[in-house]
Amino acid sequence: MKVPLLDLQAQYATIREEVRKAIDEVCESQLFILGPQVQGLEAEIAAYCGTKHAIGVSSGSDALILALMARNIGPGDEVITTPFTFFATAGAISRVGAKPVFVDIEPKTFNIDPAAVKAAITRQTKAIIPVDLFGQVCEIERIMEIARERDLFVIQDSAQTIGGTHHGKKSGQFAQITTFSFFPSKNLGGFGDGGMVVTDDDALAEQCRILRVHGSKPKYYHHVIGGNFRLDALQAAVLRVKLKHLDAWSQKRRRNAAYYDCRFVGTPVVTPAILNYNESIYNQYTIRIGNGKRDAIESALKARGIGCEIYYPVPLHLQKCFAYLERKAGDFPHSEAAAKEVLSIPIYPELTQAQMDAVAAAVLESV
Ligand SMILES: *Cc1c(COP(=O)(O)O)cnc(C)c1O
Repeated sequence: MKVPLLDLQAQYATIREEVRKAIDEVCESQLFILGPQVQGLEAEIAAYCGTKHAIGVSSGSDALILALMARNIGPGDEVITTPFTFFATAGAISRVGAKPVFVDIEPKTFNIDPAAVKAAITRQTKAIIPVDLFGQVCEIERIMEIARERDLFVIQDSAQTIGGTHHGKKSGQFAQITTFSFFPSKNLGGFGDGGMVVTDDDALAEQCRILRVHGSKPKYYHHVIGGNFRLDALQAAVLRVKLKHLDAWSQKRRRNAAYYDCRFVGTPVVTPAILNYNESIYNQYTIRIGNGKRDAIESALKARGIGCEIYYPVPLHLQKCFAYLERKAGDFPHSEAAAKEVLSIPIYPELTQAQMDAVAAAVLESV
């Protein structure tokens, strides 16, 4: 049985009429940039996350760049982050001219280690960008405590974790700014690129809104240099439909995860460790195979038509473009080990029992 890693057609089949109606409304209005659809989505995301402000932007990557720009972070500044994440987290830091300072992860959760963050702070440190990887919020309360002591700005990269909770509070309620991505493979995915910045801080929200439109306020008067970081109305219209289903979808992902967890008990497959005060939205269900067999399992699954992916095969400190940071293999052993051992398998909400059985059986036959 073939099982894709993600089946967006299966999801679309359940919301086709709603989505088409929403798109049609935008077509009839011919209002494509920002406008009422984007404002509507912003209000709904703010309410969903329990934050005062939400600012729709062009992507999760641009959300990070905008957040850094809103605090004037640039050349001469250091920003601490994890090397075990999607490229954009560190790319954004470099794009504004600041220096990414990598610190290692906690091996169980794959999220940044707060003690390592604390140890890496220097006089140049301006900000911390922790990432909520695979759907689980990082140790954000401990990171906020460290940040408060040293007066540092925290941008929580929650691109993979909209709706994930930590001690009962949703992602968005911890850091000065939290960013989300609506890339189609995220739990709340658009029909193209999109993202969101959420914050409780009035001044930061205002600065993000101004920077989103080339730094102009009022129109055609520029006190700062921003960019085009706008969200399209068509994306907002689709996302407003999908947002209504988000919690039910994440619940189904948790149900699927619980099933895999049971199937893999007592086997060499290490299942995701979700801390008891977190609720994951399982953007990925990432297993770990520690006996050097990961690559063979990946090939075996792919040969049977079972979708799987290595997120992420190269920790960022070992990427060529970051060679100038002068980090080397061995510097972040937990991140490097994770890159060699992880494998993400299908977890999407529409999976059938038969499909999950086929995935679990294929994994267990190859370990
Ligand atoms: C997806 C993702 C991003 C980037 O989002 P885009 O919308 O694709 O630009 C940033 N950080 C993390 C951790 C991500 O998973």
